Amino acid sequence: MSTATLKPRIGEPDIECRYPVIIGEDRVIGQAYRWHRDWLVITSEGEHNLRRPPAADAKRASGIDMAAAYLAEEYAAGRITATGLEQLRAEAPEPLTGPVPLLHPRMPVNDRNVGGATTAFAGLTEHHWRAVLHGFPGSDNPWYLHCELCGWSGVRYWSHHRGRNNQPPSPYRHDGGCIGKDKVRALIPAYSK
Ligand SMILES: [Zn+2]
Repeated sequence: MSTATLKPRIGEPDIECRYPVIIGEDRVIGQAYRWHRDWLVITSEGEHNLRRPPAADAKRASGIDMAAAYLAEEYAAGRITATGLEQLRAEAPEPLTGPVPLLHPRMPVNDRNVGGATTAFAGLTEHHWRAVLHGFPGSDNPWYLHCELCGWSGVRYWSHHRGRNNQPPSPYRHDGGCIGKDKVRALIPAYSK
């Protein structure tokens, strides 16, 4: 197989922000995702941490490119196998209806993380958000949330929700329209303090 046929492309991420790396029409050779500053891949052989891209081009996009190049190389060498995109989508994580644990499974249980998670969940409640996939993943990792004001769900980051300098977060809650900034301000006491 020539390297040209192995040129991978990046597909649409799932609700945990894991990007399928695809070869050809629909063969997925792995999934790539960022956790804090590291990039990890999930393949037929399990999970592998690629760490950070070289400092010179330490951008989000190049992290994905680094992961895609790694996967293409592993696949070309016969060390991993591909799966179908349809199958991957069928097995993709789904939002939960019940409560989620306090911490994301990748977050170690310690005082700092439990404290951060407790603060975050209190903030979600105050601002009418609900975690519907997993517990607190840290401030800068994707967190799939449900907006209880309008029913929207999507990936958010706690660093955008916690507000700054004792100010509440922006009343612009998410893309795709919500109930409008005025109604948000009227409904949530934090905006009238
Ligand atoms: Zn909303």
